[in-house]
Amino acid sequence: MKYTAPRGTKDILPDETSVWQGIEKTCRKLFELYNYSEIRTPVFEQTELFTRSIGQTTDIVSKEMYTFLDRKGRSLTLRPEETAPVVRAAIENNLIQKDKLTKLYYIGPMFRYERPQMGRQRQFHQAGIEVFGSDNPAIDVEGISLAMQIFNRLGISNLEVDLNSVGCNKCRPEYFIRIKSFFKDKIKSMCEDCQKRFETNPLRILDCKEPNCQKFIEKAPAIKDILCPECKTHFEKVITGLESLKIKYKVNNRLVRGLDYYTCTAFEIVSGQLGAQNAVCGGGRYDTLVEEFGGPKTAAFGFAIGLERVVEIIKSTKSNNQPSKQAPSLYVATMGDEAEKIGFELVSKARGAGISADMDYLRKSLKAQMKTADNEKAKYVLIIGDDEIKKNKAILKNMQTGGQEEIAFDEALHRLTS
Ligand code: ATP
Ligand code: MG
Repeated sequence: MKYTAPRGTKDILPDETSVWQGIEKTCRKLFELYNYSEIRTPVFEQTELFTRSIGQTTDIVSKEMYTFLDRKGRSLTLRPEETAPVVRAAIENNLIQKDKLTKLYYIGPMFRYERPQMGRQRQFHQAGIEVFGSDNPAIDVEGISLAMQIFNRLGISNLEVDLNSVGCNKCRPEYFIRIKSFFKDKIKSMCEDCQKRFETNPLRILDCKEPNCQKFIEKAPAIKDILCPECKTHFEKVITGLESLKIKYKVNNRLVRGLDYYTCTAFEIVSGQLGAQNAVCGGGRYDTLVEEFGGPKTAAFGFAIGLERVVEIIKSTKSNNQPSKQAPSLYVATMGDEAEKIGFELVSKARGAGISADMDYLRKSLKAQMKTADNEKAKYVLIIGDDEIKKNKAILKNMQTGGQEEIAFDEALHRLTS
């Protein structure tokens, strides 16, 4: 019987993992530079955590969740995003306290039942931050600049920040009314989903990707005209902050994002180097979610970077001749049983001393073993045969210079560590 990876998932193979490790390393370094600490939450949660926060009428909740019953009949869902789990964990573990900033980051897999295509998988990976405890627009600016710094360090340019304010509970109801009256006579010509959204959550109409609906959406009223004074000031301060850091941005009044919990700032970072799925990062403020989850009233901000799309950009821009994995420092080639035994001990001693080492257990010819060592790009090869055993010595070959010398077994390791 043949098995394949489930539709929409991908094996990340050894020749690609070095790119992933590089990205993850850069993310961690930058997150920590900005004083964020890592949090790891379970990959599944109670279903309600997502339905309540992301919103029943969003695409994620209505179509994309991996939801199942466990053996006791509890409804669980593979996390489609990480903000709700982090908020849950922060409240449950008392990480959110008065007069304190809590800055958390995560890296890990997310799951959405979407139609697989370029830039869209069913298991994908995100790196992101969540910060709790301040409604200062400087937090939004710091967050956006942190994401941009990560891209910058990864050598990714040609990016743009799309920025909007989605208002708050005070000003959004007025916007709902305007949106409803704008779409009232158009909704019949729009898609079925939009017709549902019109009844349940009119703001979601703006997120529709159908080309036919887009034509109407382009002319819809802009939220900026109805923002309350607080939201307006907040938005202006974010813009001033981005300008002072010389971060390129574009105000996009139609940007509402695919999740309901956002308040005020919503943003996406889009790349000119990707196709239709061009967003590499999305985020914004969610000043009411912590309280809605039963925590203290807490302003919050977060973003998530889509790592598959970052890998895609890096692979398309860099020439692919970098070494794909760490080469071993030492390769031990042996001839005969006795030599294999000594070689085995030397390999384990080398590893114990922190030298990456390997040998060939396939009992190939010496020539074939040398070829393997060369393919593995080993720096040194230690050759042990019958002659060498008699002399209690081995031959150490420097693979870069081609030079070789006879050397006592113990001396060999000493040579490599000094
Ligand atoms: P999109 O507009 O691409 O559907 P989204 O708004 O659903 O994105 P978010 O929930 O904001 O995405 O997630 C943040 C980032 O995660 C996205 O900008 C994207 O880079 C990445 N991402 C989201 N869904 C997927 C997926 N199914 N496969 C790969 N990456 C994804
Ligand atoms: Mg999506």
